[in-house]
Amino acid sequence: MVTTDEKLVIYNAIDKSINVNKISKHAVSIIRTLQSKNFSAYIVGGAVRDLILKLEPKDFDIVTDAKPCEIKALFPKSRVIGRRFLLVHVKKGGAFYEVSTFRSGVSKNYIFQSHPLKKNNRKKYSTGDSEFGTIHEDAFRRDLTINALYYDPVKEQVYDFTGGVKGLLDKKVMIIGPPEVRFTEDPVRIIRVIRITAKLNFQIPSDIERHIFNKFDLLKDVSKSRLFDESLKMFLHGQGLASYELLRRFNGLKYFVYLSKKNRINKNSNQLFEVMLKSTDLRVKQKKSVSPHFLFAVLLWPSLLIQVSKLEKERSVVRKLMSISSKTVLTKQASIISIPKRYLFKIIDIWNLQIPLVERRAKDHQFIINHPCFRAAYDLILLRETIGEKLNDAGRWWTEYQKGNKCDQTKLLHEKAYNEKNYKLNTHFYE
Ligand code: ATP
Ligand code: MG
Repeated sequence: MVTTDEKLVIYNAIDKSINVNKISKHAVSIIRTLQSKNFSAYIVGGAVRDLILKLEPKDFDIVTDAKPCEIKALFPKSRVIGRRFLLVHVKKGGAFYEVSTFRSGVSKNYIFQSHPLKKNNRKKYSTGDSEFGTIHEDAFRRDLTINALYYDPVKEQVYDFTGGVKGLLDKKVMIIGPPEVRFTEDPVRIIRVIRITAKLNFQIPSDIERHIFNKFDLLKDVSKSRLFDESLKMFLHGQGLASYELLRRFNGLKYFVYLSKKNRINKNSNQLFEVMLKSTDLRVKQKKSVSPHFLFAVLLWPSLLIQVSKLEKERSVVRKLMSISSKTVLTKQASIISIPKRYLFKIIDIWNLQIPLVERRAKDHQFIINHPCFRAAYDLILLRETIGEKLNDAGRWWTEYQKGNKCDQTKLLHEKAYNEKNYKLNTHFYE
């Protein structure tokens, strides 16, 4: 299942039934400009893969043998970006297109096979990406065979150096090079395998699965902000539920979410996550907005309640226990991935609104309904009720309150409100 070196195979777009109308005309125009100056230029990566699979490509990345300064000179509306490796963002039709120069990396990468890096200098590794190379080298430094296809929109041809088209036909994700080496070089590739397998509904060959199991722990050494970005790609790009299921198969959720019960989750937590991700996937499909703070407010909700339950014997008011527990849970979470501050505040707000949403005391209504996190907090109430938490009918109440006119709202206000003294969080629900 491991690809090392294959011969170049060229396919005509028409034979692969590529719908050329789906290709961004701006990307094609950038490629034409480069080719008119005798540079080679192609669409590469996920876009070619998705075109062959008849999916809507997310973005169109371009590669060329032109150097960044040569690319910049050809396109007035462009800027050179990147620290480790320079690439150029070309602005066309209001959007930016990433244009990068072929990179090498293969030979350096494989050095690590015989020189496994010690833990303490792992962060310093180079993935060997930082040198310009040929198209062939560029193909072999990529992660998966299905992501290493090049498309020339002028000749309408696909260039396949690694057997990527076969991978697409077989519906299998295959690593370019020895998986143990490629995963050690960059453990994020493990997450990419999971995300792309989930997105395409493909299969992971069993030998690659074994390497994923063996190497998963390396994710601990990946930068926490990169892991945050990867978690969003995994959960908020339309294949959240399938990614979650795969992640659980590898016992990998703990690399993204603080799980307070010795990294185990119970049936209710699992159901909460599944229902949330299913509705998130649907929202993505319907092109509705999705938010990182809601995602993490839900993923951390069971750990928060478990934390509250640990403090319950202190007999403090529930709001105070929530506040102490929020800090504990978010501190633990920060040791796993780093969630930007702007989201942390919103996560806390979503949690803090849970109690007043259930109590629905008259004096709080205006504050609650005008709160910027009301919608997300209300959605969490609905999720909690869907999986069986008893919340004094709060979901139905707030749904009617939002839909109702003034008269309906007054009626609702006269419904017997929840007595705060009796209110208890279902702290054992997720244990
Ligand atoms: P998506 O449809 O989600 O954008 P993608 O495969 O295009 O999927 P990108 O993150 O846009 O993913 O990456 C573009 C391309 O860059 C990939 O197709 C792959 O060829 C290469 N690539 C990205 N990340 C890595 C990595 N960690 N190691 C090797 N190659 C990578
Ligand atoms: Mg892409």
